[in-house]
Amino acid sequence: METEEMAMSEVRIETVGAEVEGAKRQHVGAIVHFTCPECGQAGSVDLSSEDYLAHPLFGETYDLDLYCWEGREGACQHEWSVEVIPRLTLELAP
Ligand SMILES: [Zn+2]
Repeated sequence: METEEMAMSEVRIETVGAEVEGAKRQHVGAIVHFTCPECGQAGSVDLSSEDYLAHPLFGETYDLDLYCWEGREGACQHEWSVEVIPRLTLELAP
C-alpha cells in the first residue's frame, strides 16, 4: 500500500513538443553569435533583450534574419537568414 501511495504522488513531465504560437514580440533566452558570410565581421543578436522573434511557432522552423550591422566599422550591411527552431518546454525545478 505504501508503494502505491508513493506512485500516486509522483510528478512526471512528458515533453510532447506541441506547436505553440508565441507573442508578437517573443523574447527567448538565447544570443545568436554569427560571422558575416560576406565580410567576416562578427556580430550577435540578443533575443533575450534587444531583439525578438515575431509570432514564432514553438517547435517549428523559424527564419531568423541576420544582418551585418549598420554603423559598425567595416560592416557591409549584408542581409541573410538562418533556420532556427524555438522550443518551449517545462521541467521540474531542482
Ligand atoms: Zn558583412
